[in-house]
Amino acid sequence: MQNIRNFSIIAHIDHGKSTLADRMLEVTGTIEKRKMRDQVLDQMDIERERGITIKMQPVRMVYHANRAELSEVPDYILNLIDTPGHIDFSYEVSRALTAVEGAILLVDASQGVQAQTLSVLAMAREQKLVIIPVINKIDLPHADVEGTKEEIMKLLDCSEDEILAVSGKTGEGVEKLLEEIVKRIPPPEPSNVSGFQSLVFDFSYDTHRGVILYVRIFSGSAERLDKLIFASSKRVFGALDVGIFVPTELSKSQLSEGEIGYIVTGIKEQGVARIGDTITGASHPAPSLPGFGRPDPVVWASVYPENQPARTTDAVQSGGDHFHLLRQSLERLSLSDSSLSFEEETSGTLGRGFRCGFLGMLHLEVVTERLKREFGMQLIVATPTITYYILDNKDKRYAVYSAVYFPDEGTYKKAYEPWVDVTIITPNTYLGSIQKLFFEHEVESGDMENLSSDRVRVVGAMPLRELMRGFFDELKSASSGYASLSYVKKEEREADIVRMDMLINDEKIVAFSRVVARRRVEKEAEVATDKLEELIPKQMIEVKIQARALGRIIAARRKSAMRKDVTDYLYGGDITRKMKLREKQKKGKKKMQARGTVQIPQEAYLKMSKI
Ligand code: GDP
Ligand code: MG
Repeated sequence: MQNIRNFSIIAHIDHGKSTLADRMLEVTGTIEKRKMRDQVLDQMDIERERGITIKMQPVRMVYHANRAELSEVPDYILNLIDTPGHIDFSYEVSRALTAVEGAILLVDASQGVQAQTLSVLAMAREQKLVIIPVINKIDLPHADVEGTKEEIMKLLDCSEDEILAVSGKTGEGVEKLLEEIVKRIPPPEPSNVSGFQSLVFDFSYDTHRGVILYVRIFSGSAERLDKLIFASSKRVFGALDVGIFVPTELSKSQLSEGEIGYIVTGIKEQGVARIGDTITGASHPAPSLPGFGRPDPVVWASVYPENQPARTTDAVQSGGDHFHLLRQSLERLSLSDSSLSFEEETSGTLGRGFRCGFLGMLHLEVVTERLKREFGMQLIVATPTITYYILDNKDKRYAVYSAVYFPDEGTYKKAYEPWVDVTIITPNTYLGSIQKLFFEHEVESGDMENLSSDRVRVVGAMPLRELMRGFFDELKSASSGYASLSYVKKEEREADIVRMDMLINDEKIVAFSRVVARRRVEKEAEVATDKLEELIPKQMIEVKIQARALGRIIAARRKSAMRKDVTDYLYGGDITRKMKLREKQKKGKKKMQARGTVQIPQEAYLKMSKI
């Protein structure tokens, strides 16, 4: 165990974690050169397309130390866990950090310390990890290595010579970094527990082999066919396989104390495997490890199957309708995405669906995208909402997760909403425009601290509702992309908010309901009606689009009917036949009008949920 080093790479998004991991994999010869590709640890399609890491990825490397002082142990086993940098996926980071002894805190030399640098550092400190500060992208012509060093020294209260400098692109400094990892990060601490004890920090799912647990072994060892047990669900299973990540799975005869690897369970139902659970021997269970809780969803969105089957055969084969297909897909997806939560829900117009909890808008986007791609689901996604709390007239407090259930004005005592503490790091020059943004988004600004001569850290508090109202994008454009943001959820405060419904030909479309600030109700109504007018194509009938709030219509648009002469194909002069046809068309239109059948294209739901 003395030769094992477990560590994670943490950083703000795009500071080069996955690229640095590439170079380590190369230097250690873990991946053959011909199999190498950029950000090789980003294996999901969506990750590769978007160039971001969504899921953490462990990989084991073998490192031959050259330097004399290290060479008494010939080979080191380095277990690296690459992590995502986007705030929506910080639960991934926190879990990865429970499996390791050290963390490389990577800072892009052309960006300096950014908001997520601070939040991931806080997580690493909480786990009492050894932190190695590393400056990346030193090959860039506009890299400010000295400035970045100063920021890091201030942040970590460390000396200059503790900070390493690398280029994940050219590989410069990577060899030295590996040496320092071996020197500074301690090997796993020997356990005084008897028996097998391991922590589930992630899992994935395979159709044939069931749930595959990603574990850190804290005590003892496990082999294939061992009888193991989940400490919390008490489920006993025989390990179908154990092994390590290279980064694909590689079977091993045994997984031992201090190692990071996988255990194949064969379990196919949902709800047995839980992140943070302890896996131990079934006959002599070791005590449970502390583990960690489930994250609190930040946004909720109702997801309904669209009526049109995407893959009719699947629906038929599974013997169910689209609702059941969606349930299966969500269950399956939650076996590889432990932050996803969902609950059945029924709505008048949309039928049966699910209320899903997400860790942010990017998470929502990724999940709906995966449902479409990996499961062929056609979805209607309602306008996402955060959690609101209502104190009703009988002084009972309850939570509202879906805008359509937000009560009517005058039928409750008070409404509450979550607030967040935000940290923004920005070059001084943009402070003016950021202040303006603060005003527009109800931010109470707090302390300001200089990070360096030209960059500051600003903290503040704001309603989560306002953060979700495009605050991040506006911050980016107000600062030419230089400001970065992180946030943590705080307490609830009383809120002055109302529900706004969208009506199409007098029918309420529940998926479009939203909760807005009372002071913004007019503006939101205008924006939403405009957007719907744009998104709904011309129909055979006239379409009336209205936004209703506070018991009245706030904004309205009309979209005239498609003018199509049904007699076009008749030429010649049979006027009575023409009149007959026109009469028939008129009747048809009336009928449609009465039923309010307006075709809403599927993409309209997604686009509406983004405004
Ligand atoms: P991550 O989000 O931290 O995993 O960052 P990635 O590894 O995906 O890299 C983000 C971007 O920075 C990619 O376009 C990389 O090619 C680029 N990049 C990463 N490391 C370096 C480096 O050392 N030098 C330069 N010039 N670009 C880099
Ligand atoms: Mg990455």
